[in-house]
Amino acid sequence: MERTFIAIKPDGVQRGLISEILSRFERKGFKLVAIKIVVPSKDFAQKHYHDLKERPFFNGLCGFLSSGPVVAMVWEGEGVIKYGRKLIGATDPQKSEPGTIRGDLAVVVGRNIIHGSDGPETAKDEIKLWFKPEELVKYTSNTEKWLYGVN
Ligand code: UDP
Ligand code: MG
Repeated sequence: MERTFIAIKPDGVQRGLISEILSRFERKGFKLVAIKIVVPSKDFAQKHYHDLKERPFFNGLCGFLSSGPVVAMVWEGEGVIKYGRKLIGATDPQKSEPGTIRGDLAVVVGRNIIHGSDGPETAKDEIKLWFKPEELVKYTSNTEKWLYGVN
């Protein structure tokens, strides 16, 4: 089953939006398979955002991600990578649709409260960077047969 890496950034944690964000993924029908709260080091943040290292905002972004607690998660489900990005909304909250997490809950691009993997390769790499294999919990959710219609 497909998996994605989702993180609530320090602004989302400080603003008390953890449960709001969790519930949007949970109610949709995605399955939480790993979760922890951590303060990443700046070096770790640079690894996470390595593909953006040439961008002018890279240093500020990594400084911000490592400035406080982050809720790191792995969510599982059919189409979760692409649909997770849909739930999150456009990078710039000014351009995110209402109804999306950033559209409803954030105002500026530098404080857009949440991260989500942008494709299958980054999902794999980010899950591996943030979690040990044994931190991913394998279980059958009671709702699966109702969500997917298979027995
Ligand atoms: N970012 C920023 N300024 C920009 C573009 C991006 O501060 O002009 C930050 C923003 O927090 C964004 C993160 O860098 O979430 C990573 O950028 P990316 O393009 O990967 O956006 P995302 O995948 O998070 O939507
Ligand atoms: Mg990205």
